[in-house]
Amino acid sequence: MKAITRFAPSPTGYIHIGNVRSAIYPYLVARQTGGKMILRIEDTDRERYVEGATELIEDTLRWLGLDWDEGPIVGGPSEPYFQSERREIYLKWVQKLLDSGRAYADPTPPEKIDEYRRKCNEEKVPFLYRNFRPENPPKWEPGIPIRFKAEPKEYSWHDAVMGDMHTGPEVLDDIILIKRDGYPTYNFAHIVDDAEMGVTHVMRGVEYLSSTPNYLALYEAFGLERPILISLPHILAPQGNKKLGKRDGAKSVTEYRDDGVLPEAMLNYLACLGWNDGTEQEIYTKDELIKSFSIDRIQNSGARYDETKLLWLNGQWIRRIFDEQGARALYDRTVNFWPEVAASYSEEYRVKVLSIIYDRLKTMSDLKTMTEYFFVDPDIDINMLVENKFLKKLSEAEIEELLKMSINELSEPKEWNPESLQEKLNDLLAKTGRKPAELFSLIRIAISFAPFSPALNLTMDVLGRETTLARLNAVARSI
Ligand code: GLU
Repeated sequence: MKAITRFAPSPTGYIHIGNVRSAIYPYLVARQTGGKMILRIEDTDRERYVEGATELIEDTLRWLGLDWDEGPIVGGPSEPYFQSERREIYLKWVQKLLDSGRAYADPTPPEKIDEYRRKCNEEKVPFLYRNFRPENPPKWEPGIPIRFKAEPKEYSWHDAVMGDMHTGPEVLDDIILIKRDGYPTYNFAHIVDDAEMGVTHVMRGVEYLSSTPNYLALYEAFGLERPILISLPHILAPQGNKKLGKRDGAKSVTEYRDDGVLPEAMLNYLACLGWNDGTEQEIYTKDELIKSFSIDRIQNSGARYDETKLLWLNGQWIRRIFDEQGARALYDRTVNFWPEVAASYSEEYRVKVLSIIYDRLKTMSDLKTMTEYFFVDPDIDINMLVENKFLKKLSEAEIEELLKMSINELSEPKEWNPESLQEKLNDLLAKTGRKPAELFSLIRIAISFAPFSPALNLTMDVLGRETTLARLNAVARSI
């Protein structure tokens, strides 16, 4: 079956990682079945509308590689894809319900409704609006809300993730379809749009599960076939049992992009958060996800967000791109992440630096802190040398002596490449009788003054003979 799925975000701010799965799963199902993915902007809540949020949503989807077949920018047969521009369509649909007596104009003022609610609270009975329906509703005119006329009854349905569901008549109510401001409610608009757009799979957050009986009543009132309903459990905050929200530091997807997380890693991580294909596989390309994804393996309980795992996966993806596509391809993904001091160096040199450091990166922005010494001479910090755990036992005179021997030995090789440098380092070990940890820590710190660096021979090779010796000499003079 060719699935027609949709991502239907409300433009109320950035897409945080807690809700982007509602875009990923519909995308995977659409691509797997050769169907269609629709992007629909649900912008009918004018109070929560945020300028620029639609562009942010589009940007996020594009970055993740989730292209849509119908929606803003690309258009499609059900245009427009902004709910705020579809008001006449909703009015046309609601007219059918008004005509068949399944909806009514409700002029009751909000204060009166509050009074009904208070009364129910005092009497400790559930507040159901259908018990307060106005007796003689007027003919509808703009400015008056329209409500559904619910028929209290039981509903059973199947949710592809939550299983078989059943509810009693107490959950059905006269929900608002068209608001006072003329805009439809989410409850109504999405039913109309999903029907007009031919949506076969409705995938959305589990928070809509409790309203589903009211949606089922609307499908029935319109004589519509029910789509396949799929509730996605919440993503849980790192601690406790709450759902991950902006307040728990749920960053926007684009913030991770700006921190140097690769879209491949983000997609991989989020797709596998609360879903697995039953194997031990952890790294998935987009194509592999499209192949392996199945709705019936979505977990029905909340999955916990774990940033450490995301960063681990990102490191794996960095390595994978290097191994499969080469240093140059990885470099192309890093251009914005180098320290400022790198700007005056050639690309060729930066590619070399990247080639020896990439396997230590968790995010691309680590380049800023991990590579400075390849571009500027580090500040000499004698304490860092003498307090190093391997060098503590040595006197300053011994350190100076060792540095001098190293300078002598390293001045010699005709070739300056990783192999001859490794030979020289081995000769130095033999000549000085020092342990590798002592000798190599000394040279490493003296040329980098960084907490760690790639293998010593590789670091010296990239720095070059002149810089390496100049730095060793400068340190020897400062002791
Ligand atoms: N506009 C709703 C939201 O952003 C979408 C729910 C749905 O996918 O139907 O939560």
